[in-house]
Amino acid sequence: PRRGIQTTWTASSHHVSPVFSRALTFGDKIAIVDQNGEHTYRELFCQSLRLSQEICRVLQCSSRDLKEERISFLCPNDASYVVAQWASWMSGGIAVPLYKKHPVQQLEYVLEDSQSALVIAADEYVGKISPSAKKLGVPVLPLRSHSSGSADHTAVEDVPLASSASWKDRGAMIIYTSGTTGRPKGVLSTHENVQAVTTGLVEKWEWKQDDVILHVLPLHHVHGVINKLLCPLWVGATCIMLPEFSAQMVWKKFLSSQAPRVSVFMAVPTIYAKLIEYYDEHFSQPQVQDFVRAFCQENIRLMVSGSAALPVPVLKKWKAITGHTLLERYGMTEIGMALSNPLRGVRVPADCGVNSDAGRGTGIGKIGQSHERVCRAVLHANPARPGSVGTPLPGVEVRIATETVKGGGRSYTIHAQGDEHGTQVTPGLEGQEGELLVRGSSVFREYWNRPKETREAFTPDGWFRTGDTAAYHDGVYWIKGRTSVDIIKNGGFKISALEVERQLLAHPHITDVAVIGPPDVVWGQRVSAVVQLRRGEMLSVKELKEWARDTMAPYAIPTELIVVEEIPRNQMGKVNKKELLRR
Ligand code: AMP
Repeated sequence: PRRGIQTTWTASSHHVSPVFSRALTFGDKIAIVDQNGEHTYRELFCQSLRLSQEICRVLQCSSRDLKEERISFLCPNDASYVVAQWASWMSGGIAVPLYKKHPVQQLEYVLEDSQSALVIAADEYVGKISPSAKKLGVPVLPLRSHSSGSADHTAVEDVPLASSASWKDRGAMIIYTSGTTGRPKGVLSTHENVQAVTTGLVEKWEWKQDDVILHVLPLHHVHGVINKLLCPLWVGATCIMLPEFSAQMVWKKFLSSQAPRVSVFMAVPTIYAKLIEYYDEHFSQPQVQDFVRAFCQENIRLMVSGSAALPVPVLKKWKAITGHTLLERYGMTEIGMALSNPLRGVRVPADCGVNSDAGRGTGIGKIGQSHERVCRAVLHANPARPGSVGTPLPGVEVRIATETVKGGGRSYTIHAQGDEHGTQVTPGLEGQEGELLVRGSSVFREYWNRPKETREAFTPDGWFRTGDTAAYHDGVYWIKGRTSVDIIKNGGFKISALEVERQLLAHPHITDVAVIGPPDVVWGQRVSAVVQLRRGEMLSVKELKEWARDTMAPYAIPTELIVVEEIPRNQMGKVNKKELLRR
């Protein structure tokens, strides 16, 4: 009898199972649409299975012996990426995605640092990776970009897979950090970690099988890998993959009436800014604008922004254009996703669902608060707040805390602690900034081959130190920025660079901005703004001061303006501020 492969894996893995183990359930449903056509779940499964056999052949082992070998792969943004990822997992290995646009030197660094046993390369990238692979003695396994419709109904249950293993603690993937503080570190997440992020998002954002997501992000980053790819594949939805971001193509897909029609979109703030730019240039007629708004409202159910702070002007303009309030969330390679605004506005049940003796329940509260006060607090908590990142995702616990080092010992003062059910604040410390700490099954296992850095990344009681400064007030969490570069200490004041950026973006001449705090002999650090101005406009510090006088604290107004053609942002919309400070 044919054994159900999914049952076998689920039963042996304490309910942690990689996404491919669900693929046969979705069978002939379209999983991926790319430049080569449509690919069903079954096709992807069978192709992955064949590739996993190839992996085992090249490494001369059976998948049962292949314990956490690192398998790097260099693929375009199409179905071949999914096949390489699934094949790595099917053969018991750890998937290490390489980024097609990285220079050879960087690819070589990842191959070497991850001690990859093998590199899978799509045909078009074999030439790029081969010299490095040869130098490091890593075999290259070429992968043809699969055209659609090549399903092979292999009797999958007869193939030796890593079926007896428990998936829970197994390494699933290594994603490299952007390396702003030294060489990039490999963040190793287990299958449990990956599944926790995936299912948390599926629940919070109500992913369903008939969703269609448009994928335009790089695939060496959690945003592109988990939020935009594994979530749809987990629920049996369809993912349309563009080779890369193009504003024109995205608008074309948004406004296409051909099936499959886009219903979900996720991107970084820069992409939304670029889409707005394109809209301003090409959709100036009122009838066209009405059509765009009506079409987006009718067909798209969810639009998410993350990976960097979403400027409020972008949020407002996007709302005006499409009728959608961008849902902002917060995450990091090491923790997956931690905080998110709600899919809809907060819904308050009649009795608040809060026990009368504590603040833990559906809302916020603090120890010792009465039921009535907590209910009022819940009613006032409207988590869909521009500029905030909402509340913890299912399964995630967060803390805002400050560390005190005394006589060689360390202690933490907790300002706020919460999970998906609510947050408790320490009386007297409401709204106080501190470091954001995160705990939960989505938090990574280790920095690959870096035990010291791994140890230092956690508090003694096991909370991951994000290095981000945050605050909790008005029922939601607010990210103030990376403590190392975004918290500027100017003459005794602590200034959040992200907040200054938010305010400066309201200036009519400023189109993009990055605020930094270079060292200053008098003030400790000064507030310096690197700005991109609207074409033909000029701005002096004096004019800026005049403009900001009524809206900004005097110490937060930049005393230095550096005008640039374009703010240097990476693919994920992030500015390397350490680099800016060095310039
Ligand atoms: P990465 O590990 O490359 O995804 O970078 C994670 C970092 O991006 C976090 O530590 C934050 O500093 C930043 N980040 C992510 N999402 C947001 C957000 N919604 N608002 C502000 N910063 C964010």
